[in-house]
Amino acid sequence: MNFDLTPEQDQLRDAVRALGRRYGHGYFVEKAKAGEHTSELWHEAGRLGYLGVNIPTEHGGGGGGITELAIVCEELAAAGCPLLLLVVSPAIAATVIARHGTDEQRKRHLPGLADGSQKIVFAITEPEAGSNFHRLGTVARRDGDDWLLSGRKCYISGVDEAQYVLVVARTGDASTGKLKPALFIVPTDAPGLTRSKLDMEILSPENQFLLYLDDVRLPADALVGESLDAGLPALFSGLNPERITVAAMGAGTGRYAIDRASEYTATRKVWGGRSIGSHQGVAHPLAHAAVQVELARLMIHKAATLYDAGRDLEAGISGNMAKYAAGEAAALAVDTAVQALGGAGMTTEYGVATLLGAVRAGRIAPVSREMILNFVAQHVLGQEKSY
Ligand SMILES: Cc1cc2nc3c(=O)[nH]c(=O)nc-3n(C[C@H](O)[C@H](O)[C@H](O)COP(=O)(O)OP(=O)(O)OC[C@H]3O[C@@H](n4cnc5c(N)ncnc54)[C@H](O)[C@@H]3O)c2cc1C
Repeated sequence: MNFDLTPEQDQLRDAVRALGRRYGHGYFVEKAKAGEHTSELWHEAGRLGYLGVNIPTEHGGGGGGITELAIVCEELAAAGCPLLLLVVSPAIAATVIARHGTDEQRKRHLPGLADGSQKIVFAITEPEAGSNFHRLGTVARRDGDDWLLSGRKCYISGVDEAQYVLVVARTGDASTGKLKPALFIVPTDAPGLTRSKLDMEILSPENQFLLYLDDVRLPADALVGESLDAGLPALFSGLNPERITVAAMGAGTGRYAIDRASEYTATRKVWGGRSIGSHQGVAHPLAHAAVQVELARLMIHKAATLYDAGRDLEAGISGNMAKYAAGEAAALAVDTAVQALGGAGMTTEYGVATLLGAVRAGRIAPVSREMILNFVAQHVLGQEKSY
């Protein structure tokens, strides 16, 4: 068992931490409040190679794995910049295309994903299907060599700043109940694809959208992979990276909040000479949250190590557990930090309550805590599936 990062991973962690701190949470909040994106940070991270750490070197990436990408996600979040699009573009889209795309798709998309000049977001969730992706109603039909896509997607992050959206559709007849998923790389300006922004109670520079696909015509090579058979493995290949990196983002956010609160409670004095942190009623909840975050980090490390070793099934279990643990730990850490800061906790200046919406959403998306518990009950505890 090895808990140490390699020297290269250590260097990456230090370098990403330094980059994140140069921007900081103030920058993240300022962009969110102005309705702008964190483009400067994104492009600088791309130029420095951090967005492509997990992309093969022959396509302009760093040739590392999800361990490296998780480090990037965690350290930027720990600096107060939790970038959700790291989870969709380099983690999901780049993995799906690198593993299952055609040579042509790899050449067209991976270099841009690696240097940050291209963003590909991910659309699976639908209003009717929700957590039950077997009910997906977005249909792909053949029309000569082309494909026609119709359906609706919801809560899709980052469509306004991406060139493409990776759409999960079903092929064949929706009424048979048999899902044969297929993934399509759809330009966000394709005729027939429209979007409307959702008003979300999350302070974030990244937005969520409803997407409407109305006979969106796509050439044959928009389908990920050489044939329809690539659909299911391609879809599943994106799930472990998604869970592991979103967990890393949660752990980083938890660290950020605990750091902010600890700095404050160590110096704030309202009862004479002792800091408020000397009172166990203040310190213990923070210490408890720190333990939960550290436990989540251990599981993230395990899941990423298993994934990078090609042990996908075990990584699936650890990745889900890591996502669950980190989602809960991040929400606990931010809430506890707000409490420890008192009134200051609710101000924008101290930069903690600004994350309440984001960490709350982290218990729902990209997979809810209940669906993870269902997964663990079924695949670890051998319980009968209830749905
Ligand atoms: C900020 C944010 C960003 C997102 N970004 C994206 C994105 O980029 N792309 C994308 O495709 N989707 C995205 N989503 C959607 C997200 O993945 C879904 O919201 C999530 O999977 C839950 O689906 P739902 O909202 O339809 O909830 P529902 O499926 O309607 O579930 C509602 C509640 O019931 C619970 N529940 C449902 N079924 C069961 C069951 N069988 N057992 C126990 N409990 C159950 C759920 O856990 C949940 O608490 C995003 C969501 C948010 C909030």
